[in-house]
Amino acid sequence: MTNIEQQLRSDGVIVAKIDDLLNWARLSSMWPVSFGIACCAIEMMGAMASTYDLDRIGVFPRPSPRQADVMIIAGTVTFKMADRIKRLYEQMPEPRYVISMGSCSNCGGPYWQHGYHVVKGVDKVIPVDVYVQGCPPRPEALIGAFLELQKKIEKEQILHDKYFEESV
Ligand code: SF4
Repeated sequence: MTNIEQQLRSDGVIVAKIDDLLNWARLSSMWPVSFGIACCAIEMMGAMASTYDLDRIGVFPRPSPRQADVMIIAGTVTFKMADRIKRLYEQMPEPRYVISMGSCSNCGGPYWQHGYHVVKGVDKVIPVDVYVQGCPPRPEALIGAFLELQKKIEKEQILHDKYFEESV
């Protein structure tokens, strides 16, 4: 439970920095762009279906990168696909985040040694915030990745950094 949620539950009054309020809103509504590129995507879809229900922590897939702030790379990143991934990533508004789901996107997976057509890690194409191990990872692991991402977002100081940079 975040500090803001504790305040809300105890007396219904929030005293916080703007950055903390924005972070609380952002971490409570993460919108991943909806696409999968190989078999890991089946587990990603499982995480979003009724049994695991990622929606309950505010994760709701969007059909357009322009409405999304998270990209889940769920599958094998071929060289042909890498350009498309980069283009989609660049169309997402900032701040934006990337979860690399599974061995293929982490390091090439089963294609690590002889896969001439596979990029050996999506982090060679776009920056990655959270890595999820497995081939494929289970839905619980993907939920864990979003919880990790929430912790990261909670500590960010976007407004402070923006105005501090502008004032120096
Ligand atoms: Fe398929 Fe395994 Fe690669 Fe996931 S990590 S895309 S399950 S081969």
